Amino acid sequence: MSHNKSRFGWKFDNTYSRLSDGFFERANPKRAQASHLVLFNDELAQSLGLNSEELKTEGGDFFSGNVLFEGSEPIALAYAGHQFGHFNMLGDGRAHLLGEHITPNGERFDIQLKGSGPTRFSRQGDGLAGLGPMLREYIISEAMFALGIPTTRSLAVATTGEQVVRETLLPGAVLTRVARSHIRVGTFQYAAAYENGENLRELADYTLQRHFPELISQPEPYVSLLKAVIERQASLIVKWMHVGFIHGVMNTDNMTLSGETIDYGPCAFMDSYSLSTVFSSIDRQGRYAYGQQPAIAMWNLTRLAEALLSLFSTDQEKAIAKAEESLDTFAGHLQRHWLNSMREKLGIGVAGKDDMIFFTSLLELMEKNHADFTNTFRALSKETMLEEPLFKDAEFLKWHKDWIARKPNFDLMRTRNPAVIPRNHLVEKVLAAAVEKDDYSVTKNLIAVLKQPFTEPANAAEYMKPAINGGEDYKTFCGT
Ligand code: AMP
Ligand code: MG
Repeated sequence: MSHNKSRFGWKFDNTYSRLSDGFFERANPKRAQASHLVLFNDELAQSLGLNSEELKTEGGDFFSGNVLFEGSEPIALAYAGHQFGHFNMLGDGRAHLLGEHITPNGERFDIQLKGSGPTRFSRQGDGLAGLGPMLREYIISEAMFALGIPTTRSLAVATTGEQVVRETLLPGAVLTRVARSHIRVGTFQYAAAYENGENLRELADYTLQRHFPELISQPEPYVSLLKAVIERQASLIVKWMHVGFIHGVMNTDNMTLSGETIDYGPCAFMDSYSLSTVFSSIDRQGRYAYGQQPAIAMWNLTRLAEALLSLFSTDQEKAIAKAEESLDTFAGHLQRHWLNSMREKLGIGVAGKDDMIFFTSLLELMEKNHADFTNTFRALSKETMLEEPLFKDAEFLKWHKDWIARKPNFDLMRTRNPAVIPRNHLVEKVLAAAVEKDDYSVTKNLIAVLKQPFTEPANAAEYMKPAINGGEDYKTFCGT
């Protein structure tokens, strides 16, 4: 452990590796054959207080896991999780937490390598990641950040010079992920299921200290912790839904206590609006469909409440009552966030008592007319009508008149309704250029455009055009 600033500006203080043994395994990243830094996030590096010029020129071997930054103490974290409803023991099977970096203004961030080789938790997996999926996580997580959505971030992607065996051979790569922490609902499930009561308390205290220090002095800090996590998740899910984001694999191991979006696997953005939109090839039941996200978040939070139960009261009935009372707050938070956010998307300053019906009727008309979610809201915020079925629908024209009567604030709307999102076909195109032709220029162009999502880019049409068929044929894959 080192508190002093070291080379590149790192300042590690690794508190997670000072928790009890069961929470992690010490593990070194796999050595890469030939490291090559292909993407580097200058802006993020600078905001972390790092020397970005030095990292960009000399960081390749570090970002591939070949050499360790001074002060890092790599560990793989233990956790469990419900995956598609089934409980499993998991853990970092292809990731190494290098440590926690303290920024010049005192903020703490996990620095993690993903795709950096096998650990004790790898099960059948090889511990590796393909270049395409790591670039995809970089692009989409950074786009989410620019959209104002809490998320883990991406500092770098480095190739390893090795091949990864999937359906085909893929170039191997390592992503450097930056997160408020990697504590998941599944970490609590692990502590509750596999460790003794003291470890559960230790994890809860650690989480309070790290993410909710203001709650420590509450009369019932663990109940307050649950309630705070519920609030953050309700807020997060609304943010996702109001940019058309579908996480795709909302297993309990992919839900953070910090309220950040994590694990960009089969996620994707919806083109034409429909509650039943699913992109993930393995989500055949639509468990994680666009419109299912609030319900599945609630399901996951119920698993968190169960894991925390023994901390609420020694009397089980009382503990259950506290858990239920907390979980009951989710629906109210969700509705409040949803209505507030929709008012902003529609530029409405004064709440009306029938807003829920009013907003939902617009969405229903969009669904009926297969309207593109992003472009419809953007057109409304620009006071324009599109040459599309929705805008010719008599019911919509009636709705539009009622809406205009509420004197929408178009300036506000243009800061809430993005012009550009990482549309699936755009992302696929840049990944193909990078992976197949070693051409990163188009990736970098897309990243630059996505950094300013509320501004129309120079060649707007190219970035704003929805997929053919509203993207219905698009499929994403896990096991990346
Ligand atoms: P994910 O679907 O990315 O959330 O991963 C679920 C679990 O599988 C986590 O415990 C991962 O660490 C593990 N995992 C995913 N891919 C691999 C891989 N290629 N090798 C080892 N473990 C993996
Ligand atoms: Mg995961």
